[in-house]
Amino acid sequence: MIGIDLGGSNLRAARIDGSAMTGHREPVGEPRDPQTIVEKVARVVESLAPDGPVGVGIAAMLSDRRGTVANSPHLRWRDVPFGELLAARLGPGYPLGVYNDVNAIIWGEAQAGAARGCRDVLGVYVGTGIGGGVIANGQLVTGTSNCAGEIGHTKVRWDRDAAPCACGQRGCIEAYLGGSYLMTRIERETGRGACSDQIHTPDEVDRAAAAGDPWALGLWRELAPLLSVALGNAVAVLNPERLVLGGGVLARCPLLVRMVTDHMAEMTNGPSWGPLSVVLAELGDDAGLVGAAHLAASGTDLITRPSPRPRREP
Ligand SMILES: [Zn+2]
Repeated sequence: MIGIDLGGSNLRAARIDGSAMTGHREPVGEPRDPQTIVEKVARVVESLAPDGPVGVGIAAMLSDRRGTVANSPHLRWRDVPFGELLAARLGPGYPLGVYNDVNAIIWGEAQAGAARGCRDVLGVYVGTGIGGGVIANGQLVTGTSNCAGEIGHTKVRWDRDAAPCACGQRGCIEAYLGGSYLMTRIERETGRGACSDQIHTPDEVDRAAAAGDPWALGLWRELAPLLSVALGNAVAVLNPERLVLGGGVLARCPLLVRMVTDHMAEMTNGPSWGPLSVVLAELGDDAGLVGAAHLAASGTDLITRPSPRPRREP
């Protein structure tokens, strides 16, 4: 099977045969019009000589189960029938599925990573933004309009000063801890002289907080409980057995992760907290393509189905 991860910066691909992976990586580059990108993805697929399912994870909001991109800020696309275009370009022959990248990532972790063997999983990724994915009773939960798992836009503040979010609303957890918001805040407070001018990134805040810097510690003490509220509420609704935390910010901020999990213990009801294990994602950059390949292999939302084999005459 073939897995593709079409992100904002890189196009990554791999042929997965059992535990062996043959990989490929290139920048998405410019131009980014749908025809150019479809051609680029198709050539990568062909170069990997598929003889089975092909799954594509894409950094985009999808409006249906046929890979129609409603909106992708990374690719600067709106209403692009990406799945249909790719299926037409590749032609019949092998099953093709197109999935939201965070859904593919969490499915990958459940197949071969931090949530192996789990049937009820919540995955939350804090990177530039905050994304999430849900597996319930062994099935990926996509929701009625493909928006399930959007934990980044659950509200943690609701007063007049609640931070504005790029989604158009206020008080979303992403507007506090999403990497791009966090960087802006660090820069603003460094400029005001509130903290050391050696601190520019979330991992530098984490190291400074661990070393006892009062500003850094204050920032984490303010923000960690907000993420704990969002996670605790999601756990109360979903009752997962495993919570997988990942993304660039959490992967590089061990103190923040510890503070968030400590607060979660207070903010999650006992019967849900007891059986829950909170773990870090294991597959890193491979999770999306591994997950997309496994989703296609499991027959989830296929756009192209395999051609029927000719029946043998008696
Ligand atoms: Zn939002």
